[in-house]
Amino acid sequence: MTDSTAPVALVSGGSRGIGRAVVLRLAAEGYDVGFCYQSNEQAALELEKEAGEFGHRALAVRADVTDAASVKEWVARTESELGPIDVAVSSAGITRDNPLVLMSDEDWHGVLDTNLDGVYHVCRAVIFEMMKRKSGAIVNISSIAGVYGNATQSNYSASKAGIIGFSKALAKEVGRYNIRANVVAPGYIETDMTAELSEKVKKEAARQVPLRRFGRAEEVADLVAYLASERAAYITGSVFQIDGGMTV
Ligand code: NDP
Repeated sequence: MTDSTAPVALVSGGSRGIGRAVVLRLAAEGYDVGFCYQSNEQAALELEKEAGEFGHRALAVRADVTDAASVKEWVARTESELGPIDVAVSSAGITRDNPLVLMSDEDWHGVLDTNLDGVYHVCRAVIFEMMKRKSGAIVNISSIAGVYGNATQSNYSASKAGIIGFSKALAKEVGRYNIRANVVAPGYIETDMTAELSEKVKKEAARQVPLRRFGRAEEVADLVAYLASERAAYITGSVFQIDGGMTV
């Protein structure tokens, strides 16, 4: 059974990790959810099925957030199949770590194109309809690296700091249309992204965290769902760190 009056959420990078947890959480909260993935079709189709089990519609579409036309097509298809978008979450992101002295132009631009241009493309594609409807919530996933910087991550830190500046500007611009834009800045979260780290590095990293562990994607999704909801109706332009106290 589907409910066509359900609010609609859009999630970039929904097939895995934090984005996947956001898709499931929003589906559980009663949203129809459209999400995109880049290449992992199997993970996306499995998630489409799992999210659909909450009784609302889920729509997985392959789209590349680095490509404005691809994002526009994804958004148009989601709007035509699910309806106007109420909530847009940008979670698609990559890392290509290296000290600056060894950074290649390809790794610099690859990270900026995905993490920062990706957020721009998604927000650009949804904002006009939200303005017309005088309603909307945007949640962009940054990182504590975007707030404090992280050695060997100049590209990633720049992209994540860019998301913060972008979202604050957007919040000021569209607040009068009843559209909110907030940022979630996670610390270490257990996903494929951090699975790349060696056990030794992970142990060392967890020791720097007062709560002595990595966060779970579901814990980030909980915060995202709160910011997307009416419970956060007076919160905009804010950056929420979720890092187990690591940056205290
Ligand atoms: P994962 O590597 O687990 O998942 C990344 C997701 O992004 C996948 O769904 C992937 O699709 C999608 N994606 C990547 N590139 C593109 C693209 N060009 N177009 C469309 N989709 C794309 O990452 P996490 O869940 O760990 O990270 C999610 C977000 O949270 C990122 O922005 C990351 O920077 C941020 N973050 C993560 C932290 C962590 O510790 N994990 C800490 C702080 C921030 P596909 O499955 O097809 O590859």
